[in-house]
Amino acid sequence: MKKALITGITGQDGAYLAQLLHRNGYEVHGLVRRSSTTDVNDLRLRWLGIVDDVKLVDGDLSDLSSLMRVVRSVQPDEVYNLAAQSFVKTSWQQPLLTGAVTGLGCANVLEAVRIEKPDARFYQASSSEMYGLIQEPMQSETTPFYPRSPYAAAKLYGHWMTVNYRESFGLHASSGILFNHESPLRGIEFVTRKVTDGVARIKLGLGHELRLGNIDAKRDWGHARDYVRAMWLMLQQDVADDYVVATGRTVTVRDMCRIAFDHVGLSLDKYLVIDPDLFRPAEVDVLLGNPGKAKAKLGWEPETTLEAMIQEMVDADLKRLSGIR
Ligand code: NDP
Ligand code: GDP
Repeated sequence: MKKALITGITGQDGAYLAQLLHRNGYEVHGLVRRSSTTDVNDLRLRWLGIVDDVKLVDGDLSDLSSLMRVVRSVQPDEVYNLAAQSFVKTSWQQPLLTGAVTGLGCANVLEAVRIEKPDARFYQASSSEMYGLIQEPMQSETTPFYPRSPYAAAKLYGHWMTVNYRESFGLHASSGILFNHESPLRGIEFVTRKVTDGVARIKLGLGHELRLGNIDAKRDWGHARDYVRAMWLMLQQDVADDYVVATGRTVTVRDMCRIAFDHVGLSLDKYLVIDPDLFRPAEVDVLLGNPGKAKAKLGWEPETTLEAMIQEMVDADLKRLSGIR
């Protein structure tokens, strides 16, 4: 039985990846950091019904010795580094923590693997945010990076460290440059989930408006369930490499909102309020990924459309909120 170690297992992608690996016959271990709410930090694993199928181990991305101890005791065949301070807006308020966890934290995991289990395969959760101020209409593995936030700068460090550990030490280290991906398990601070939660509240009479910032921004949104499959496929290749994972379709925040409102028969224009406080110090105006390499080399294709995903998220929020009405 293969063993996998997932950092960030309590997050959106960690939960879906744990489910996939368990189904694929892996023994799944997940790193969790200590918090005062440890009794409820496995909510996403519970939602997917897999909490009893994974083994949770203590550790923190900013503490190298904890990572070394975990890698030494688990002896994983595959390590997926998904842990991060992952919210772009927070990265301007906590730039150093974001650098320490999202950037240096990746180097810590790479070091733990290099020292304790150098034949383990390693996956780094890189991000389309690294493209930032883009010069090319469609972004691929060869598009130059231009990070526009402390989060993106930290991710770029992790990305290049992954490439360097592959080239310098021969680690089987791959990096997935994933475009935005969402699900009912997405953190509520991200725009899709904020919208689906807001629409469900309005529909149920629990809210009366939806406040957003820049709704002209465009994103290439896919489903997290599809994207974790690409992570796993990367580590099944003989040779490690970097891959863009995206749908190849970009949509404004406004149009994504419209899908959510239409689903419950409400009018976006009646409830949307633009709040200048929600604009960011710097914006990534448009992201559009070219998944050609992932399709050709991994045989990966997204299965869920944006419409189907937003409807699934609205329905999940309606169900959750119905209980508290
Ligand atoms: P989430 O924010 O849902 O999950 C982040 C995870 O990291 C949580 O499990 C969190 O634990 C953990 N974590 C945070 N800080 C630490 C730390 N110091 N030590 C250990 N664990 C820590 O992110 P997603 O699941 O959405 O994303 C997964 C990864 O993919 C992230 O690295 C993200 O930046 C990246 N990514 C995501 C994209 C997306 O659209 N979702 C796009 C491109 C990249 P806790 O529960 O305790 O907070
Ligand atoms: P990001 O691409 O990782 O920053 O993902 P987000 O979901 O946080 O943001 C996607 C886009 O939505 C960005 O361009 C934001 O500026 C825009 N946006 C507009 N209003 C909001 C809002 O209220 N919350 C969030 N999170 N994003 C918003």
